[in-house]
Amino acid sequence: MDNRLSLSQYKLATFLACQRRFQLRYLRRLPWPATPLPEHTEQLLQQGQEFHQLVERYFLGLQITPATIPNELVRQWWQAFMAHSPIHQLPANARFLPETGLTVPLGNHLLYGRFDLLVLGKDEGERPFAHVFDWKTGRPTDTTTLKSRWQTRLYLALLAEGGSAFWPQNGPLAPEQISLTYWYVQEAEAPVTIGYSAAEHQASWAELQQIAARLDEASAANIWPLTDDWSECRECAYQIYCGRQGAGTAVPELDEAEEPDTPNEQLLTPELP
Ligand code: SF4
Repeated sequence: MDNRLSLSQYKLATFLACQRRFQLRYLRRLPWPATPLPEHTEQLLQQGQEFHQLVERYFLGLQITPATIPNELVRQWWQAFMAHSPIHQLPANARFLPETGLTVPLGNHLLYGRFDLLVLGKDEGERPFAHVFDWKTGRPTDTTTLKSRWQTRLYLALLAEGGSAFWPQNGPLAPEQISLTYWYVQEAEAPVTIGYSAAEHQASWAELQQIAARLDEASAANIWPLTDDWSECRECAYQIYCGRQGAGTAVPELDEAEEPDTPNEQLLTPELP
């Protein structure tokens, strides 16, 4: 049996938060969330997805007419994006690849990320660069937290390890040539750009390898411990499976760009639109 898993930022974060939740959600595939979300949360998720689709269509070269955007909030977000898009400073000859995925091997598994927008180009010194952009319609987060998030670390590590798939003629991209910008619609004029270094990549990659090894151990023993941190249980849909109903409840954290729980079999192959 093929035990290889496709590990996304969500799966990594889930495994680190609670191994039992990882097992229930990604191996046993129990529905998440188990109960319908509050209407307001559903609506915000839907609007976030609509906004992402608009931006994707824009970078695919399609005409967007604001008057045809039916939802007023999404229309306002779009206007904010047009007025303060963080891509204006990029070289004119850059390639814009919206909704692009990349998968690289990690031990016995695959590491997978899907970028809202990947921009590839050459800087003034003719060195190739890769710049990821991530659009956020939720509450803004400070730079320190963003830097420590698995989304950031995973995207940067993926490009350092597998970016050569986009540049077959140039070989691997140096970590210093890779960056990631978060653009929050609520802080449209203040995008947050995070750079990368060889030392950071070495540390991230070593940690990712350790996580993959821990996953293999849990899988081999089929032991998936419950977290000791009951605050993790507050937003977890599986309390009833663990007898943790006493933890209290909160709406599970969801991301408008969260990918469906399906494996991705691509290997070192850029997923181009
Ligand atoms: S309820 Fe708590 S222990 Fe159970 S899966 Fe969720 S986070 Fe883990």
